[in-house]
Amino acid sequence: MVVKARLFVAKVSSKVATQLSKIGPGAGKNIPGYVFSKVGGKQSVSDIAKDLKLGSVLITGTNGKTTTTTLLIKLMSKDLQIRKSFENNTVHSIITAILNQKGDLGIFEYGIRNLEYGIPDTVQKLIDPIGVVYTTISEEHTVVNGVKNPFLSYYRAKILLSKEMTDGVIVTNCDDPRTAFIGISKNDIPINYYGIECDDVVDLLGSTVKCPNCGELLEYSKHTLNHRGVYSCKCGFKRPEPDVKLADIEFNEDNWKLHIVGDLFNYFASKNVQFDVNVVVPPFGFHNIYNILASVTAYVTFTPKLDNIEKNIMDVFNNIDMSFVPPGRFEVIKYNGKNIGMGQGDNGDAVSINVNLMNQYIDGDLEFIYTTPDAEEDDIFNSHYEVIKKINPKHVIVIPGRKSVEKAEEYCNIIKKDFDSVDFYPISYENLDERISKVAELAKNSSYDNVILTGCGEEFAFWESVKRNFD
Ligand SMILES: [Zn+2]
Repeated sequence: MVVKARLFVAKVSSKVATQLSKIGPGAGKNIPGYVFSKVGGKQSVSDIAKDLKLGSVLITGTNGKTTTTTLLIKLMSKDLQIRKSFENNTVHSIITAILNQKGDLGIFEYGIRNLEYGIPDTVQKLIDPIGVVYTTISEEHTVVNGVKNPFLSYYRAKILLSKEMTDGVIVTNCDDPRTAFIGISKNDIPINYYGIECDDVVDLLGSTVKCPNCGELLEYSKHTLNHRGVYSCKCGFKRPEPDVKLADIEFNEDNWKLHIVGDLFNYFASKNVQFDVNVVVPPFGFHNIYNILASVTAYVTFTPKLDNIEKNIMDVFNNIDMSFVPPGRFEVIKYNGKNIGMGQGDNGDAVSINVNLMNQYIDGDLEFIYTTPDAEEDDIFNSHYEVIKKINPKHVIVIPGRKSVEKAEEYCNIIKKDFDSVDFYPISYENLDERISKVAELAKNSSYDNVILTGCGEEFAFWESVKRNFD
């Protein structure tokens, strides 16, 4: 009885909070969920999660969360009404979505930064998901809210989100050794792997990472995108076979044709289902191939309706345009005869994706305008720098991308050891507008035919502002 009373109070409070949040700007997506969990406590969160008759699916990873979640929502909405949350990816926004929306299935993006702030094992217990979808895991900002968060604890936090699941399915990328390892280590529930199984997607700048099982460097027979590919280790750890795979791809100037096939476990039917589809999508970057595979795999795994799987996949992807790609994304434009590629690259994986896309346009010398990470973000710098060295620019310009100018200079001095022609512009964080216009001006006036601008910035806003200088 006590539990019920608390739940009732909590529901009323969060309704009030919903009203309040309509008045004030910002934060509205979070407030009802926050008030709800504060008033009702953990038990109330657990109870409200049971409102979803079919359960919920959480999407997590370093890159591709929002795009994958958006695509999965499009696919699943063809079959049933769902409750959803994306972009604002805290547990409070999940609770808010459950409280304010209708539908029997929940699809929620969930970002885990570290153990202290992400509480992934608690979230798993409270939300009790029927599925966790992993996109990819790579080094990103290692200081969160002033707390140091080394890569290993960040990785551990991602693992904890699904570790204690006793029912449900994990959907994970088998080309990424880190997300594949999560599947391999979990042998008490079904795992659906997705990956690229055709020879046309090769990343010549791909990087090699350590084996998540034993710590030795992995051996790759092929890289598909940065640290993803076909890998194996002396300890016996190797890439698992994909259940859903890109079997073939045709690259055209205006579109890409993808052939995707699957034979995978469906949670509600409790048996394997097969599909085979051809879709035509815009040429929006290799990383989105993985986002498509992740969303399709999650859709076929968790839809309770099996009749229209192929039709729904084709309907969604044959009608998709570039608008679903987040703002600040990297793109290559023609400007006064130059190829200028610019956009967000807050982690090594993202910069690698940008450089790969740019590489298709480069003919002749390249200038690299690099915006650095912050103090205590050496991990990010190191993964950025691996990529910069591989693309081997003729000239490098270094500008602080975040707060610390001193640290940017330190990073610049490391670059100077390997490159002859490097310039540094110490523009302070307080003069963000000056930074934005300087970055744009340097690219516009560059004497090189190919210029790439990428690295860290203030997330999307910085790069959207840079791009506006080229309108
Ligand atoms: Zn190993």
